Amino acid sequence: MVVDQLKSAIRDIPDFPKPGIVFKDITPVLQNQELCTAIVDEFVNRLKGLEIDAIAGVESRGFLFGMMLANKLDIPFIPIRKQGKLPFKTIAESYKLEYGQATIEIHEDAFTAGSRILIHDDLLATGGTVVAASKLIEKLEGVIVGYAFVISLDFLHSLGRLTRFSDNIIALAR
Ligand code: AMP
Repeated sequence: MVVDQLKSAIRDIPDFPKPGIVFKDITPVLQNQELCTAIVDEFVNRLKGLEIDAIAGVESRGFLFGMMLANKLDIPFIPIRKQGKLPFKTIAESYKLEYGQATIEIHEDAFTAGSRILIHDDLLATGGTVVAASKLIEKLEGVIVGYAFVISLDFLHSLGRLTRFSDNIIALAR
């Protein structure tokens, strides 16, 4: 089954990038094209019945499966990037990290008001990143139809932070 295959392909790297963090390395997943295709197909399956106009993916690992999924669904991909990377007019949202803060941006013409947007990132940890991404989508008057993650660190109990935007939360490995 794809989820089992995915789980065994994810490589845990203890103490990266700093002590106490177990980093979920998906590069072995990317080396297996059959598995990548199965992951995208699994997302498509679980998203059946949802009307989606575009996928918004968060830099940088959210670009990998985000673009593959958008391509498979034949809909646009919208990059949400770290501050200072997007070349056109942007709007920004800042959020707290464990130490300090981060800012992400989206092009202000990324989609038209009322568009139905699925937010994607490789991994859900505290939820801070996708909550900020959700605020960007709402600032541009998009409708958040759901979230899709390759991995969710469920022990952090962050799903509750997302339900105020949408109840449709897909996470393959948890
Ligand atoms: P958060 O905002 O806390 O939900 O963190 C999610 C973002 O940080 C995602 O873009 C992930 O790629 C990255 N991230 C957080 N924790 C990990 C981890 N343990 N392993 C790999 N990536 C992580």
